[in-house]
Amino acid sequence: MKNTIITKDQIQAAAQAAYEKSKDIKGGVNAHYIPYLANINPDLFGLSVTLPDGTVYNYGDTEYKFGIESVSKVPTAILVMRQQGPEAVLKNIGADATGLPFNSIYAILLENDHPSTPLVNAGAISACSMVLPAGDSDAKWKAITDNITDLCGSAPELIDELYKSESETNFNNRAISWLLKDYNRIYDDVPMSLDLYTRQCSLGITASQLSAMAATIASGGINPLTKKRIFDEVISPKITSLIATVGFYQHTGDWLYTSGIPAKSGVGGGVLGVLPGKLGIAAFAPPLDDAGNSVKAQAAVKAFVEKLHLGVFDTVNPVIQY
Ligand code: GLU
Repeated sequence: MKNTIITKDQIQAAAQAAYEKSKDIKGGVNAHYIPYLANINPDLFGLSVTLPDGTVYNYGDTEYKFGIESVSKVPTAILVMRQQGPEAVLKNIGADATGLPFNSIYAILLENDHPSTPLVNAGAISACSMVLPAGDSDAKWKAITDNITDLCGSAPELIDELYKSESETNFNNRAISWLLKDYNRIYDDVPMSLDLYTRQCSLGITASQLSAMAATIASGGINPLTKKRIFDEVISPKITSLIATVGFYQHTGDWLYTSGIPAKSGVGGGVLGVLPGKLGIAAFAPPLDDAGNSVKAQAAVKAFVEKLHLGVFDTVNPVIQY
C-alpha cells in the first residue's frame, strides 16, 4: 500500500476546483413536500472543508443558513451516545440500513423489533425520545441545540417559518411516531418527541458550520475550531458507521460505491461528509435527486474526494502534511 503526502495547498486547490466544476451543474428539484423548502433560491451553492488543525476552506454560499433537516439526525444520535453510550443506541434503535425511503412506514412494519437506525425518520424520532432529561421538553431542546453548538463551534438558529411549515404538514411523521409507540420504541411522551424532531429539522445551519461538525467527528470528538473535546473518541467510529450505512437514503450503496466517503444528506440540500482522521467536508445546494440528495453537493464532494484519492476504501491513503 503506498502512502502519499498531500499538502494543505493541494487540499485548497482541490476544494476550489470541485466548487468550480460543480457550480453550473443543472438538474434536481427543491424538496416540494415541505412548502418552505420549495421556495428557497435553487441557485445557492456552497462548499466547505475543515481540517483538524482548524483551517477552513470556504467557496460560494457557505454562510447561508438553510434547513438542516435530516442532517440533524447525526448530532442527535451523537447526543444520545454522549448521554447513554453507543450500546444504548444499538439496543433501543438499531444500526441497520432499511433500503427504503427515509420516511418509510413499510420499513417499520418489516422490522417491528427496531426502528433500524437513528438516521431515518423513525429512528430519529426515537432518538429524540431518548434525549435526557426525560419528560422536560425545554431541557431536552436545550440539550439538542447545545450539542449542535458544541459540534459546530457556533450556534444553529431555528427557522420559525420552516418549523411552522413542517409542523403543519408532518402527517406521515405523526403516523410513524404512533406506530413506534405501539412497538415500545418511543421512550418519552410521543407528541413531545415528534415536536423535538420536527424542531431540530427546522434549525438553520451553514455549510461552514456543518463542515466543522464533520471535522469534529473526523477528529475523534475534538472540535478543530474551539479545540474542545466534545465527545469520547469511541463515538466517532460508531456515528461514522451509521452515516456510511444509511446517510444517502436508499441510494447509500450507490453513493459509497461512487464517492468513497461516508456522508449524510438532508432534504434542505445539505451534505455532511466525514473522512476519519483526515477532515470534514460539507456542501449545500437545494435541488435534490429522486431520493432526496442534493445534486450539486454530491457532485462537489465526489470531485474533491476523487481528486485527492481520499475515499475511505482507496488504497492510496494519503497523509496530510501540516
Ligand atoms: N423533516 C424532514 C422529514 O421529516 C426531514 C427529511 C430529510 O431531510 O430526510 O420529512
